[in-house]
Amino acid sequence: MSNQIQLAGGAIARADMGTTLIHEHIHIGVPGWQLDLKAPKYIRSEAMAHAVDRLQELRSHDCRTIIDPCPMDLGRDVEFVAEAAQKSGVNIIVATGVFSESDGIPFTFRTMPREDIVELYMKEITEGIGDTGIKAGVIKIASGEDPANEYDRRMIGVAAEVSALTGLPIISHTHYATGGHEQVDVVEYHGGKADCMIVGHSGDRDDHAYQASIAKRGAFVGLDRFGLEMTLPDEDRMRNLIELVQAGYREQALISHDHILCMLGRLGPALPQMAPNWTLTHIFERIIPRLIELGLGRDDIDAILIDNPRRLFENAAGQQSV
Ligand SMILES: [Zn+2]
Repeated sequence: MSNQIQLAGGAIARADMGTTLIHEHIHIGVPGWQLDLKAPKYIRSEAMAHAVDRLQELRSHDCRTIIDPCPMDLGRDVEFVAEAAQKSGVNIIVATGVFSESDGIPFTFRTMPREDIVELYMKEITEGIGDTGIKAGVIKIASGEDPANEYDRRMIGVAAEVSALTGLPIISHTHYATGGHEQVDVVEYHGGKADCMIVGHSGDRDDHAYQASIAKRGAFVGLDRFGLEMTLPDEDRMRNLIELVQAGYREQALISHDHILCMLGRLGPALPQMAPNWTLTHIFERIIPRLIELGLGRDDIDAILIDNPRRLFENAAGQQSV
């Protein structure tokens, strides 16, 4: 069983992950963004300077590691990420895997034989992404509005198989905290394990029963969109987190922002207006102090930000030794 985790630039011991945000994005472009005449011009050097600044700010809060689960079809640029990681000193883990049929680029994967997709994921993990030599350290899955969607289920099945083969965890995108159980079902059916996956965006609805039911199955619950208050106010997100801790599921709670440092396309300039508190450091600046006010202890915060991310990787690596 490996005790290493794979970063965009090399590998570190799992014990050295430290405070970890499990779902943030350095660089995203939705499919076809560059065809939009109203998309602002992408200037790589400016985007890089912005990303490095924000990552250094995050580092000043003693956050050492982030996972960037950008799927291969959302403008993934692992060389950009590796450079931003190297310049800022933040450990960044990148992903293999794809987005949902409704929001990704499904044609290629709908028509490829399953074993060729497995081979591609394996290659991105063991040899590197494209010819960059940069290896994926997590596997992304996604589902859209319809959790029964055939394409999404096929790709989740591939991810589960590859997770079991490589000992890497799975990070999911759900459609506003729906379809999480279907994701766990498909992962388990294909030989993956619930305790090696994060059911992402599970905090997007004020629904403790849903969140607890995901935790009950052994999966990690991603309350990973702090600051996106137009979807759900932070006060509700925090109450849901505290309810999960009080229900005995502290060891499966994970928090993050799903922030996007460089959003290519016309959505980019609009995001800060839509959600002014949605930054990479919001949890450290505003959420943790408020959680302490609401009754969580420092030990709870450390469990959620340090121990739980490490255990996700430990569980996933442990699959291989059995
Ligand atoms: Zn995301």
